[in-house]
Parts: sequence; C-alpha cells; structure tokens
Amino acid sequence: MKVLVINCGSSSLKYQLIDMEDESVLAKGLCERIGIDGSKLTHSPAGKEKYVVESPMPDHSVAVKMVLDALVDEKVGVIKDINEISAVGHRVLHGGKYYSDSIVVNEDVKKVIKDCFDLGPLHNPANLIGINACEAAMPGTPQVAVFDTAFHQTMPEKAYLYAIPHEYYEKYAVRRYGFHGTSHSFVSKRAIEVAGLDPENSKVIVCHLGNGASLSAVVNGKCVDTSMGLTPLEGLIMGTRSGDLDPAIVEFIANKENLTVSEMLTILNKKSGVLGMSGGISSDFRDLAKAADEGNELAKQTLEAFVYRVAKYIGAYTAAMNGVDAIVFTAGLGENDAVTRRDVVSYLGYLGAEIDEEKNKVRGEETIISTPNSKVKICIIPTNEELAIARETVALI
Ligand code: ADP
Repeated sequence: MKVLVINCGSSSLKYQLIDMEDESVLAKGLCERIGIDGSKLTHSPAGKEKYVVESPMPDHSVAVKMVLDALVDEKVGVIKDINEISAVGHRVLHGGKYYSDSIVVNEDVKKVIKDCFDLGPLHNPANLIGINACEAAMPGTPQVAVFDTAFHQTMPEKAYLYAIPHEYYEKYAVRRYGFHGTSHSFVSKRAIEVAGLDPENSKVIVCHLGNGASLSAVVNGKCVDTSMGLTPLEGLIMGTRSGDLDPAIVEFIANKENLTVSEMLTILNKKSGVLGMSGGISSDFRDLAKAADEGNELAKQTLEAFVYRVAKYIGAYTAAMNGVDAIVFTAGLGENDAVTRRDVVSYLGYLGAEIDEEKNKVRGEETIISTPNSKVKICIIPTNEELAIARETVALI
C-alpha cells in the first residue's frame, strides 16, 4: 500500500510518497514560493536524480497537480498510475477543540477545518485547498486529516485555560491548543520503548527543538501540558518567534514605533526569536554557534537565553508531573546539536540527570545519551512526522 503525505504551509507544500510494506520513501519533495514569483518544485525520487521545475504556482491546487504529475512522470516518476496511491494523509494545523484524533475527511471535517481558519489563518486555508485538490485529482481515494493540535487535546483545563475573562473561552474558544502534536506523539511513544519505561507508569518530557520549538509533558502516553498556545507563538524562544513575553510589550512598542497590532505580531512571529535577539545574525542555530565561537557577544547571549528557557520549561514540567523518567531531544537542533543538549542538561543536576559526553557526540541517531547512573534517561529520538502521518492514515482506512 502506498500513502501520499501532504503538508501544506502558507506558501509551501512538502510531500512524501511512502510504501507502507516496508515504510520506505519512494519520493519526496517540496513546492516553494506558492502564490509568489519564482515558484519551484524540487522532486527527489529514491535512487534517481533530483528534478527541479520552475513554473508559476498561483495556489496550492496547482502545486498538487505538479506533484502528482512528477510522481507518474515517465522519467522521474516512481509510480505508473495515480491509482496506485491508496490514501492521502494531510497534515492539518488546527483542529480547534473538535478533534483529538486523526479522521477520514468528509464534508463535516472540512467544515471544522474551515471553522478554524481564524485560529490558523496561514495554514488551515492552505490545508483545505490541498485536500480539495487531491480529492479532485483522485476521486474516491480516501483523504485523512492529521491535526497538529490533536495530541494535546488530553491536557486538563488547568493547563489549557488562560487567566483572562472566561467569556473569551466560551465565545471564541481562546485557550492553549499546542502544536507539533504528531511529533510529540511519535517521539514520546518511541521514548517509552527506547528508555524501557512502563507505558502505564511513565513521565516523559519531549523537547522538539527546530526552527519552531515546543516542549510537552506526557504522562502514561497522554499529553498533560505543552508550551505553544492558541498559536505557535507562545513558549520557547524559536528561530524567528519570540515565545513567552509580557503582552504589554505589544502596545508599548506599537506606540513608540507607530505600528498596528498586526504589524507587531508579524515582528513577534517573523523577526524575533534568535534572529531578532542576536541583532539579525540568523535564525539558523549553526550560524549563531559559528558567530558565538568567533566571539560575538550577542550570539552567545542568544544561545544562552535559548537554552535557559528550555531548562526552565523542563523544571516546570517536572513539577507538573511530580517527576520525570525520560527527557527526549528531537527535531533539527535537538537531534543534531550536541552542545545545546549538553548545555540544557547542565541545568538538571538537581534531577540527578547526567549526560554521557561520548554518547552525546552523535547526530540524528536514536539513542540514550545519559550515563548508567543518571536518575533520568536522556534520549535522542529523530522525529518523523511524515511516517507518523502515513501510519495514522493506514490505521484509519
Ligand atoms: P523546522 O522543521 O521547524 O523548519 P528543523 O526541525 O528542520 O526545523 O530544524 C531546523 C534547525 O535545526 C535550524 O535552526 C538548524 O540550525 C538546526 N540544525 C540542523 N542541523 C544542525 C546541526 N548539525 N547542528 C546544529 N543545528 C542544526
């Protein structure tokens, strides 16, 4: 059985065609700059040359068509006919409070995705266009929606309610939702196996540290808290997002700089985080580490602040769960950057957590990096959101 996984961002579309017999990736690729000048498809079929097409993509439905054409292309394709695709799994950003699980798409599901447009204004409309375009191109092929918010729906009220007038929750469903749910779900389940924990008696903290970054606290496989909120802006310091701050800053800077609230939010989402804090060096942690090594003070402060915030959240989640059995690092930075992992764990002596410097010298490998004496297991678990979406899709159809 072959499953196509589609992940539509505001101006991008990532895809993978996975053969579920052996979970191998037959082809993957990326459409960039959808709706902007210079649209480009990069298609990478397994075992064949990469193929790049530059052609206008005014919207996501054109992008879907180009992807399907590439998949069946005589030269660069990996299947003969679109009918070989048994199902399509779509990553959908926001399922609001309606979905705590993935679901086969029907008209009701589409309505919920639409109802959540104002909660995910950049992604949900793109997700819906992607679903409609796949339905049109592959009539009868099941489409499955896998929500980024679903895994976090088990959070208790004390974790998801904000301390604002309750009417805003009642009227507009303003609450913490959390994101990266597919990754937190996949990684926390795998951590229980890798660390040899009892699934019914386990406390895990997942540190998803990439360009977007979030933590989750997971008790017996169920999420009890997570650091992102109504939108992905809350929580950790990220590549370009500020994470937690005093909301009064919005009005203060808006008044000083003559900006609107929405312009301020663009600054907090796109120009802040490690990019903004470092004075504009980069949103990429590799560039910051290089600058810090070369003696740049702002780069050093930025990296210290990033690590400090992660360590504070680990402390908070350990308190929330009254203990922790395993702390897991995942995503671009968590999987690859030994220095960040070492620096975060250096705050956790009070937990009896101890990193093995030798074992920590790995990249992207599923492994335990704590010493045998460590009271908490520290692990690296590479995330694989596409595979998780494909597995969910197969399970549902
Ligand atoms: P996203 O999926 O949110 O766009 P990723 O999970 O791909 O992000 O993570 C991207 C981040 O991971 C970048 O900031 C990058 O610097 C960091 N990263 C990737 N590889 C390495 C590495 N070898 N060393 C340090 N950081 C890395």
